[in-house]
Amino acid sequence: MIDPIKDLTIDGVLQLHAPRAPLVPLVLDSPHSGLTIPADFTPAVSAERVLVAADTHVDDLVSAAPDLGAPLLAALFPRSFLDVNRSLLDMDVTMVEGDWPHPVGRSPTAARGMGLMWRYAWGDEPMHARKLTVAEAEDRIRRYWQPYHREMAQLMHAVYGRFGRVYHLNCHSMTAQGHAISSDGAGTQRADICIGDLHGTAAAPDFVALIRDTLAAEGLDVALNRPFRGAELTQAWSSPAHGRHSVQLEINRRLYMDEVTRERTAGYPALKASLTRLCRTLADYARAQVPG
Ligand SMILES: [Zn+2]
Repeated sequence: MIDPIKDLTIDGVLQLHAPRAPLVPLVLDSPHSGLTIPADFTPAVSAERVLVAADTHVDDLVSAAPDLGAPLLAALFPRSFLDVNRSLLDMDVTMVEGDWPHPVGRSPTAARGMGLMWRYAWGDEPMHARKLTVAEAEDRIRRYWQPYHREMAQLMHAVYGRFGRVYHLNCHSMTAQGHAISSDGAGTQRADICIGDLHGTAAAPDFVALIRDTLAAEGLDVALNRPFRGAELTQAWSSPAHGRHSVQLEINRRLYMDEVTRERTAGYPALKASLTRLCRTLADYARAQVPG
């Protein structure tokens, strides 16, 4: 017997919205929409600067998912404080005083200042006025990274255990243009939507095509893997040969918010309606893939 998925809130850390309709093998997560600045986080910049990188409103844009049987997990803290879409190997050791006593990898994101914890608030503006102690950095991992990944794992295992397959949509937003610390460079105009499937290795081609075609039918222009191919969560939860399919969805902020004030703009309701139809299409698809 598999435990039913229940609503769960860990204050300031995460919120799991359980399905409010019969479960389907589709899981959504929004790892970067958190805006709650932890009380013991003392950045050198203003709260506004800390939140420039946040995927503001993304959790709301896909909030129809639980009504369609798909659980939705959202982080509640800012990604620049601790980015759960990074591996622990993406720790930027230059931010820490003394030796970091854990393994690290050759991390291109950490090299750009956008690793597990961000070196810069935005551009070349340092996030912290001093180095973190090892204990402070370990504490962030223990209190934020680990609970998110633990809930994600439980969710994916529960759904996979029930259906023998799982489809995962990892939801984000992107700035309208590339910028100083992005891989596509400053000033590059971006599509309405960027789908990342790790260059064809993270999900069945028909699932990826369904997302692309559904969004294109909504009048949105969709790019594939450029500039974003997917990151840690897509990597961690994809194994198409074993029925685990994961796709990263990046929504252009110009469609729904003012990038400076982060307030919703006139396009918000129409975009949310499009994404609700996408969620319905994907829930129907996921249900239909389960052998009868
Ligand atoms: Zn994001």
